[in-house]
Amino acid sequence: MTIMEREKAEAIIAELGKVFTDKPALKFNSPYELLVAVILSAQCTDARVNKVTAELFKEYNTPEKMLTLSREELSEKIFSCGFYKTKAEHILSASEDIIKRYNGEVPNKREELTTLAGVGRKTGNVVYAVAFGGNAIAVDTHVFRVSNRIGLAAANDPYKTELALMKIIDEENWSKAHHYLIYLGRSYCKAGRPDCANCPVEKYCEKNIKVK
Ligand code: SF4
Repeated sequence: MTIMEREKAEAIIAELGKVFTDKPALKFNSPYELLVAVILSAQCTDARVNKVTAELFKEYNTPEKMLTLSREELSEKIFSCGFYKTKAEHILSASEDIIKRYNGEVPNKREELTTLAGVGRKTGNVVYAVAFGGNAIAVDTHVFRVSNRIGLAAANDPYKTELALMKIIDEENWSKAHHYLIYLGRSYCKAGRPDCANCPVEKYCEKNIKVK
């Protein structure tokens, strides 16, 4: 397994840009709403998250309002997203931290976002890139699988994959690449059975299919 050269990486990103949007599928109206939506999206479809947040954000769309809910009450509202107890805990911890340390506003610096209570590196990177226009590559399960199958990375964990992608992809394309690789993973390069025959980047791919 080798890491491919930068030119090939650029060609892949350009090819994917013809097929996929670089916009997120999650719906939100503020950095805080995006943060909550990204926390809810772990192991859950964006469509389901959008359904849940459409109701949740009618009343609870700021850290202060969210903290009027107990963990049990919030769990009930987000139940259908799965892992609801952990997600409720993370949303409430992040909300508390935003109020305590950032005066109620979601911070716009990557290093601050990624150290918020209840917020992991992937979530922090997504919020930094999508809500604040920063350059970051968030590595979720799709980005991890697809990058390593194609040969953009040869890493055994999301953090190492992120570092490998940052080396090989131009910084101004990091956020775009994140979205393209997610959409590629959802539509063609699925965990179970990749559709290589119809894949838009088949000619560049190393097809390390064992990566799940
Ligand atoms: S060619 Fe196959 S393995 Fe490679 S990215 Fe496309 S679907 Fe995935």
